[in-house]
Amino acid sequence: MSHMDMIDPFGRHITYLRVSVTDRCDFRCVYCMAEDMAFLPKADILTLEELDRAASAFVRLGVRKLRLTGGEPLVRRNVMALIRALGRHLTTGALDELTLTTNGSQLVKYAAELKAAGMKRINVSLDTLDPEKFATITRWGKLPQVLDGLRAAQEAGLAVKINTVALKGVNDDEFDRLIGWCGEQGFDLCLIEVMPMGEIGEGARLDQYLPLSLVRAKLKTRWTLDETDYRTGGPARYTVVRETGRKLGFITPLTHNFCESCNRVRLTCTGTLYMCLGQQDAADLRAPLRASESDTLLDAAIRAAIARKPKGHDFVIDRRHAAPAVPRHMSVTGG
Ligand code: SAM
Ligand code: SF4
Repeated sequence: MSHMDMIDPFGRHITYLRVSVTDRCDFRCVYCMAEDMAFLPKADILTLEELDRAASAFVRLGVRKLRLTGGEPLVRRNVMALIRALGRHLTTGALDELTLTTNGSQLVKYAAELKAAGMKRINVSLDTLDPEKFATITRWGKLPQVLDGLRAAQEAGLAVKINTVALKGVNDDEFDRLIGWCGEQGFDLCLIEVMPMGEIGEGARLDQYLPLSLVRAKLKTRWTLDETDYRTGGPARYTVVRETGRKLGFITPLTHNFCESCNRVRLTCTGTLYMCLGQQDAADLRAPLRASESDTLLDAAIRAAIARKPKGHDFVIDRRHAAPAVPRHMSVTGG
C-alpha cells in the first residue's frame, strides 16, 4: 500500500475501475435496453483522450485493474487507440490487469489487437446457444457472429469467461448444456442474476427474475460443484465443476449482498462516476477534466467522490417494488 491508495470511509481500498466507453450498442438485449433507446449527444461523451486521462488518473491514485465496458465497448470508433494507450500502464507495472466485457460481435476484427495491447482475458456475454433464442434475447444479434468471435479470441490466446444472465423461462433449460459446452471450449462460466436496472417494459422484470440459489441447487444434482475461494476482484463466488475442470461462478446481487468487500467504482462515457451500482449518488468528472489541462482538479474530484462511497445497495424485486431500483439502464454503467 502506498500513500496514493484510495480508501473509502468503510476502509475498502478502491483498486478496480470499470469504464463505460460508449452508451451505444449493436444489440438490444431485452433485460438491458429498450428497443427504441435514445442515445447521448456526442458533445456529452468524453473523447478517447479524455477517457484516457480519467482512467489514467485512477491508475495514478491506486487503481490496479481496469475493465472497459458499455454499451458495447468495441463499437466505439477507434476504441483500439484507447486500449493501446491504456496498455502502457501494464508495461510500467502501474496496472495489473486491463480487460473488457463484450457481447463478442466484433471479436473477429479485434481479438488479436486486444491481445497485442496486453489483454490476457476477456468476458463475453452469451445467454444461449440456440440461434433463435439468441435473436429473441438480443433482438439485433446473430449467434454465429459471436461464436466466430469466440473462436478468434481463442486463436489469439485470450482466456474467455462467458457471462450468462439467468432468465426464467428463457434459458433456464440450457445451463447444463452451457456448462458442458464451456468445458469443451475451455471457457469459465459465470451466471448472473437479472438486476432491476432501467425501464424495459411493463412486468418484464418480475417475469425474468430467477434466484440463483434455486439454479445452483438444481445444477448440483447433475454436476459436482467444488467450493473454492478463488476471487477475481469481482463479486462472483466461484465453484469448480469437477466433471469439466472449469470454473462456474455465481453473481447474486439480489440474494447475496457482496457490498462489504466492494473495491470498485464505475465511470460512464459522460464522465459521471458512480460509487455504487445500486445507488443514485454520483460525481461529475467531466467538468474538472474539461476545466483545465492539468489533472489537479480531476484528482481532487476523484478523492472527494471516494470519500463518500456508500456502504452498500438494496436491490429488491417483488410486487411492491416493480419499478427499477435505479432508473438508469445497465448500458449506462456497464454492469
Ligand atoms: N455489451 C457488453 C456485453 O453485453 O457484455 C458490455 C455491457 S453489458 C451492459 C455488461 C453485462 O451486463 C452483460 O453481461 C449483460 O448481460 C449484463 N446485464 C445487462 N443488463 C442486465 C440486468 N438488468 N441484470 C443483470 N445483468 C445485466
Ligand atoms: Fe448491448 Fe451488452 Fe446491453 Fe446487450 S447487455 S444490449 S450487448 S450493452
